[in-house]
Amino acid sequence: MLSEKLQKAINEQINAEMWSAYLYLSMSMNAEHLGHKGVANWFYIQYQEELAHARIFMNYLSSRDCRVLLDPIAAVPQQWASVLDMFVMTLEHERKVTSLINELAAIAQDDRDFASTNRLVWFINEQVEEEESAREMIDALKAVEGNKYGMYMLDKELLSRTYVEPSPLSGAE
Ligand code: MG
Repeated sequence: MLSEKLQKAINEQINAEMWSAYLYLSMSMNAEHLGHKGVANWFYIQYQEELAHARIFMNYLSSRDCRVLLDPIAAVPQQWASVLDMFVMTLEHERKVTSLINELAAIAQDDRDFASTNRLVWFINEQVEEEESAREMIDALKAVEGNKYGMYMLDKELLSRTYVEPSPLSGAE
């Protein structure tokens, strides 16, 4: 069993991952509306990844004989003026998620809960990738700013992104 404090914090993190999923789904729909199918695809995959993050935490709580308690998911923004705005918000949001994951790791460390620490290491590494991919997208968008053909080609490239089940769910770890 986990400490009450860590159980509560992980349940809150499940809600945060679901909120992230809903945020990226909203961005995906916004991109569809703006006519950028590749960007919509990128965010739809991001949405699927966030659902997987929530699932990993739910599986973990269950495996440690803890209750999963699902709270309401708060509203997310619905409109962004540009694709760049969406990725700027994505980077800000992922930095916030990183600090939440770090907080969970700090609680697990205080508890000397090594199994939880071990589970959280996957998320710590995942956050490095999440921030990096948002930064790369911002760089790519800035490189094509004001260039419609460049944006068209970038959007086409983003259509090729495919969803890969994270290793804690696919059994690859
Ligand atoms: Mg996440």
